[in-house]
Amino acid sequence: MSRLYITKFELMTWNELLQPDLILSSSILSLTPDIIQRYKLKGLVLDVDETLVPFKAAVASPELKEWVAQVRQVASLWLVSNNISENRISSIARAVDLPYYHGAAKPSRRKVRAALAEMNLPVNQVGMVGDRLFTDVLVGNRLGMFTILVEPMMDPGAALRSHPVRNFEVWASEILGATISPKEKRFTKRNKF
Ligand SMILES: [Mg+2]
Repeated sequence: MSRLYITKFELMTWNELLQPDLILSSSILSLTPDIIQRYKLKGLVLDVDETLVPFKAAVASPELKEWVAQVRQVASLWLVSNNISENRISSIARAVDLPYYHGAAKPSRRKVRAALAEMNLPVNQVGMVGDRLFTDVLVGNRLGMFTILVEPMMDPGAALRSHPVRNFEVWASEILGATISPKEKRFTKRNKF
């Protein structure tokens, strides 16, 4: 697999492909219009599950709706989810009044590229925001987007739940040479990987 990518992207090695441009030490709610403008971003492609909404939640929280209302004033927004349930993703998209693609199979570029085409913005002015390195960050870097890794959005009752897959991805990325440590400390607590 690594041979495939290195052959295809001769100038990008695994550590570069897995390296987020920005790592937030909290959820997407800490990605403020101020930060978005500081990095000169005009649009954001957003992962859905555990980036916007916990896995078990079917509805957008009031906090998320407020975040979308603030951020859409400075950036175009699209949802691109790997979830194959159009029911789930469309109802979340409707709740925040945003366009979406579901079943994206990130790190496949196809649907993220389609969202970028709809946004009609230079690719380096669009942030790819997600909680996963091997899907969200990888697809964003493959396309030349500005990649932002956020902490997973968790159910309030599951604040101490571990994220074995995500933790494995962080570990594997660091083995491959990426540096996965937060650069924007907006909150005091951070899980130790
Ligand atoms: Mg996710």
